Amino acid sequence: MNDDESAVETARERDAADPLSDLRERFYVPDGELYMDGNSLGLFSVDAEDALEHVIDEWRELAIRGWTDADPDWHTYGERLGERLAPLVGADPEEVVVANSTTVNIHTLIGTFYDPDRGEKIVVDDLDFPTDHYAIRAQLRQHGRDPDEALRVVESRDGRTIDIEDVLAAIDDDVGMVFLPSVLYRSGQLFDIQTITEAAHDAGALAGFDLAHSIGAVPHRLSDIGVDFAVWCHYKYLNAGPGALAGLYVNERHFGVTPALAGWWGNARETQFDMALTYDPAHSAAAFQTGTISILATAPLDGALDIVEDAGGVAALREKSLALTDFLIELVDEHLPECEVGTPRDPAARGGHVAVEHPEAYRISLALKERGVIVDFRQPDVVRIAPVPSYVGFEDVYRTVEHLREVLDEKEYEEFEKQSGGVT
Ligand SMILES: *Cc1c(COP(=O)(O)O)cnc(C)c1O
Repeated sequence: MNDDESAVETARERDAADPLSDLRERFYVPDGELYMDGNSLGLFSVDAEDALEHVIDEWRELAIRGWTDADPDWHTYGERLGERLAPLVGADPEEVVVANSTTVNIHTLIGTFYDPDRGEKIVVDDLDFPTDHYAIRAQLRQHGRDPDEALRVVESRDGRTIDIEDVLAAIDDDVGMVFLPSVLYRSGQLFDIQTITEAAHDAGALAGFDLAHSIGAVPHRLSDIGVDFAVWCHYKYLNAGPGALAGLYVNERHFGVTPALAGWWGNARETQFDMALTYDPAHSAAAFQTGTISILATAPLDGALDIVEDAGGVAALREKSLALTDFLIELVDEHLPECEVGTPRDPAARGGHVAVEHPEAYRISLALKERGVIVDFRQPDVVRIAPVPSYVGFEDVYRTVEHLREVLDEKEYEEFEKQSGGVT
């Protein structure tokens, strides 16, 4: 692979022809590194930094007046960012708000919309991100249900993906809610949100989705499809920083309900400062805010969204992302015969990352990091590689596979300890 000058040349030509290649200059790509982990923590950008510095200056200069006099004001920061995010998920502006963390949003939305009278069972799958199950189980207990009884878990046939037929078969009259991810965090399988939502609605159930691994990477049409509710985080493909506030969507047909985690920040703005002791929900998704918004943990998103808009929206990012993951899959097939691609090859069933499987995945990921190729490991045998289109190019993908080939050839992973624990 080393001497393949023509392949490198072709990758360089693709970078030169890429209309999005300039975006990279706005990001702090760690010096000398190939950053392929943007689906875990996206990179800091000059835009996010400016937005953060702006609110720090306002705090210094305006103090309490920042809530009303800052530009933009802090009081409605979550709603305003909801408006900016609405096109990313295909929703109306009032259907989206920035609030809480993803896990807290799952609690408040499941807690609000779970109604055993509609159907006792909640459909999930056995490849979900664990926090989703923890929160759903906790909410089932709050509703006096035994989670082992009330959760209907669709099982994977191959340990990588979920067969849509199995999801559809699980949706019957006992089901009150379907809650699934848009993209599986490990294999990168992208679900057909429309088909699942229609099946849920046909059975009289609600459909909710966790978009953590697709927001900013895959366009969505939540309102058109009629999805009931959704959650996501902003620190993966949207580059808003570690622990940035999360987002949520609630279809307008549900406006006016009292959230399970009601708080004054979700009270109607007109009556919030009446300080009445009974809650008056905002007539929008904004009702699902809980306490005071963390401006410092939200401002970077405001800058990061400028980059998405300048890219031409998520559709443009998605087009490049698919070209990058196609290229990556091609290179793995050609140069890494001992590895398997665990991600669907059909672009319509693929999110923004590729799962490269190898029995030594854990130690391989360490050897790659040592070389400055930042990937992550997921149990039991997956090296996740995310060529994020706003700051990764075709040559980067080529070099990543080249490093992997060398790590395997030289058995470099044998220099590392076998797995024990910690953040991977
Ligand atoms: C990353 C991720 C989360 C993270 O939840 P936090 O509350 O932000 O820690 C939740 N669900 C899925 C599917 C994720 O990928």
